[in-house]
Amino acid sequence: MAMFIRVDIDPAIQQDTALVKRLAEVCPVDIFKVTDGNIETVESNLDECTLCDLCTQAAPGKVNVVKLYR
Ligand code: SF4
Repeated sequence: MAMFIRVDIDPAIQQDTALVKRLAEVCPVDIFKVTDGNIETVESNLDECTLCDLCTQAAPGKVNVVKLYR
């Protein structure tokens, strides 16, 4: 179970093949993976997130990295 962040993905993204592919490529720590054309997060990699914002820049308003700590 990830302790530091949660990544919320707008389900509408699944319709956008190019965006799904870009998201999977952009994350430096492989938090996104594509399974059967759908993007999902890799639970075991979530805590590796560097908060680099590349994913939120790739999909503005559609991907949200939520910090679970303060
Ligand atoms: S903020 Fe960076 S490291 Fe974190 S999920 Fe997005 S692309 Fe990956």
